[in-house]
Amino acid sequence: MTDDDANEAALPGLPAPAPLGTSALPEGTYDGVTVLVTGGGTGLGKAIAAEFARLGADLVIASRKEERLKAARDELAVLGGRVTAVPCDIRDPERVAEVFDAAREACGLPGVLVNNAAANFPVPAEDMSPNAWRAVVDITLTGTFFMTREFARRHLAAGTPGSVINIGASYAWTGGPGFAHSAAAKAGVRSLVESLAVEWGPYGIQVNGLVPGLMPHEDMTADIRGNLDRAAPAPEPSPDEPRQGLGSRQPALRVGAPRELGWAATFLASPYARFITGHTLVVDGANWQRRSLVSPEVMPIREQMGRGPFEA
Ligand code: NAP
Repeated sequence: MTDDDANEAALPGLPAPAPLGTSALPEGTYDGVTVLVTGGGTGLGKAIAAEFARLGADLVIASRKEERLKAARDELAVLGGRVTAVPCDIRDPERVAEVFDAAREACGLPGVLVNNAAANFPVPAEDMSPNAWRAVVDITLTGTFFMTREFARRHLAAGTPGSVINIGASYAWTGGPGFAHSAAAKAGVRSLVESLAVEWGPYGIQVNGLVPGLMPHEDMTADIRGNLDRAAPAPEPSPDEPRQGLGSRQPALRVGAPRELGWAATFLASPYARFITGHTLVVDGANWQRRSLVSPEVMPIREQMGRGPFEA
């Protein structure tokens, strides 16, 4: 055994997740429940939708791009329940209302809303255009509020309970250099969880947050992917391959699998989590808590992103 082998055996990292297709919740937990996922046609939103579908839910997925929604609808339909794809820009409250109308017609008022849609790209704050700021804040924070407000209005009118899960990001607490717009918007999303859980608890509506850690997926934007690749070019990180690429930079010694976020979402909205509300659950292998005894050298964001000096 070499020193490297011995070190690998002594530091296995957090165990790999259970296989795709399994679940901790009883079969049929979501039978008869409609689950609406914004941004459910791609990446983590699609992975979350899939876990609800495996447990019997009917799905409604909503986002702007019809093509992607249709492809995801066909993929998700294989898992069992009905899947309805509704094109919608969540920044527009009228389109948001139409999503709920379409959902009611197809399979009933959603009992669960997952606010997963968001926009994000890294940019030094001094280079950020007013439009870039507005777009990210409008989609991530304002869009989340419009969706949640519509969900609550319909449940209050019907006198029915419901569960909202807002997908957040850990830089809501820590700040996110290079992501000032998204970090500010996610801090707002986290605050909504805490305000609305109290406002709507008396009506039976739970509002929780769910924060993913580094969970690479095939739909990651070129911007985000490019920055990850710059940090750790190869090999491709995988939740089943500890110490590989970016995984070796996490306390878990591996990256997260999108299904791990899906499992957490299905728990938070389930009958087994009815007394949990106003809470934000972080699923990131403790990466956001990481500190070093001695801090690494500071590298300005422009340098981290391979950008030259600022030009006005
Ligand atoms: P993603 O692949 O970029 O997906 C974003 C989704 O939002 C897309 O489906 C997009 O669909 C939709 N969307 C964007 N703007 C919209 C709008 N105006 N109206 C309706 N839908 C809109 O993101 P992801 O990596 O799966 O991340 C999902 C969530 O997890 C996000 O909230 C993100 O902030 C959070 N998160 C992810 C990670 C990670 O490691 N991936 C880490 C921390 C937090 P259209 O383009 O069709 O509209």
